[in-house]
Amino acid sequence: MLQLSDFYKNIFGCKTYKISLDAGCTCPNRDGSKGTGGCIFCSENGSGDFVAERQKSISEQIEAGKKLVEKKAKGRSGTNPVKYIAYFQNFTSTYGDIESLKKKYYEALECEEIAGLSIATRPDCLNDEILSVIAKIAETHFVQIELGLQTSNEETGKTINRCYTNSDYEDAVRRIKKSSQKIHIVTHLIFGLPGETEEDMLNSVDFVVKNNCGYDEKFGIKITVLYVVKNTKLALMYQNGEFKCLEKEQYFELLEKALKKLPENCVIHRLTGDPPKSILVAPEWTTDKKRVMNEISGILNKCGA
Ligand code: SF4
Repeated sequence: MLQLSDFYKNIFGCKTYKISLDAGCTCPNRDGSKGTGGCIFCSENGSGDFVAERQKSISEQIEAGKKLVEKKAKGRSGTNPVKYIAYFQNFTSTYGDIESLKKKYYEALECEEIAGLSIATRPDCLNDEILSVIAKIAETHFVQIELGLQTSNEETGKTINRCYTNSDYEDAVRRIKKSSQKIHIVTHLIFGLPGETEEDMLNSVDFVVKNNCGYDEKFGIKITVLYVVKNTKLALMYQNGEFKCLEKEQYFELLEKALKKLPENCVIHRLTGDPPKSILVAPEWTTDKKRVMNEISGILNKCGA
């Protein structure tokens, strides 16, 4: 296992930050082509809540993002060089007019200090056309594709209304690797989804490993605890007492078990989310970010990452 900061440092030779961007896409699970209303946990901003306004150009968003990073990292980066990954985070960043998406990806790459792209999407939104655009970029730049999976339990998949299947995910991983061995795949999982047992969550980790670790390249994983945010179906279910959020200790115990399952070529991208306090309903313990980060780094050390 490798931590993300080390992975990026090995590739880029310096501290590398992600800048969240909004490509102006929507999602097939919102516009009616696959479903309506979206995944039950997805916020109004399509699971990306720290981005500049949609009407800004990609370069303007990048400039604003750099300022935000500089403000947050003040005193840490000093005069050392830094690089940035342009992270197309909101909604489904491969869903839309191909030419316009292509323009936005290249606009990001032309900005100063941008070292590569990270493109968040659904496994069922990677047709051959968009994959060939991304594979072409991967010939000259670092590219990672972030795939939402959340769980490998198909029943939970229905409960959360994700509107794609495990085989969509398996197919996406296979086709991405076929299009370019250079694309780094990162899979998102959520622990604590309604009705899930510990076995379900750990099975999801096994499922990601099984689908990715056959490839020589390193693969990535992001795990977060389930966050309930305002104005979502999940918030209604929570208020109606239909499920309980994971307690801090439960989540950390699960994380430790999950990390022990990860092979050496797995990069840990994140083990916590970051929803703004203003929209968070639960779990309350996640707002103590310093403590959460300390606990997580203790677990990472214990697991040898
Ligand atoms: S697929 Fe992503 S953007 Fe679409 S509704 Fe689900 S979480 Fe939100």
